[in-house]
Amino acid sequence: MADQEQDLRKTLRVEPGEKARLKDRDPRDKTIFEDSDETKAATAALAKDIDILQDRLYAEGSRALLVILQGTDTSGKDGTIRGVFNATGPLGVSVHAFGPPSRLELEHDFLWRVHGACPRRGTIGIFNRSHYEDVLVGKVRKLAPEDVIEQRYEQINAFEKMLAENGTTILKFMLHISKDEQKERLQERLDDPTKHWKFNPGDLEDREHWDDYQEAYEIMLNRCSTPWAPWHIIPADRKWVRNAAIATIVKATLEEMDPQYPEVSWKPGDFKVF
Ligand code: ADP
Repeated sequence: MADQEQDLRKTLRVEPGEKARLKDRDPRDKTIFEDSDETKAATAALAKDIDILQDRLYAEGSRALLVILQGTDTSGKDGTIRGVFNATGPLGVSVHAFGPPSRLELEHDFLWRVHGACPRRGTIGIFNRSHYEDVLVGKVRKLAPEDVIEQRYEQINAFEKMLAENGTTILKFMLHISKDEQKERLQERLDDPTKHWKFNPGDLEDREHWDDYQEAYEIMLNRCSTPWAPWHIIPADRKWVRNAAIATIVKATLEEMDPQYPEVSWKPGDFKVF
């Protein structure tokens, strides 16, 4: 792997056991990518590389990649999916968005709905929000008793370990935006008629709890970044930096997985197409 990729992953990853502080990570960090036009072109090329690697993953049919996207409202989860996976063949990708749990889902443990949405072998699964909501909104809005929330971090680590041991590589990205950037993006949703549909008054309520969410994110990042499912903190105020960083890490991870086209038991010369 290129040194540059290795450095980027190291810079953005939360090392297991590290005490990551969001205040120390600049959401407007421009140092990791230099020129925006060049970076955008490189990201488009990476998206195509991801498609080629995905084709191999699908043909191999024995492992999966799970990409988990978390971030406050307007942090760009939808935009990331569009920007990074736009060239990937739809056959091999599933996207699952997690909203508030249904009545049926609430009648089960919090991971029940998640397990069913995990990618099948040969595919890339993308989670737009995830089981981490249960230690984010769940914690901030006190949707469950404190001791129940407390137990969830280890339950998540054990669940993800089980997935990893069964052939699913897991990448987790926290899209880190500043409060000022969120203000601008929310205002845009009010000002631009084509974005009205994205505006949800509930987002303003969550914005009032900004500091509580930042704290809940920090706890989650520190307790659930594991060797088998690492968290990355992505500077997300600039969309092109966000997409470039995530595309680089996804591609490097797929390259490391190195999926192989299966061997066939026949030789092309054995057949003649008539
Ligand atoms: P988005 O805001 O991502 O475009 P939605 O408005 O449909 O999508 O749903 C997201 C909402 O669902 C968020 O407010 C989120 O906090 C909430 N949500 C997701 N998972 C849970 C959960 N496990 N418990 C409570 N609320 C959840």
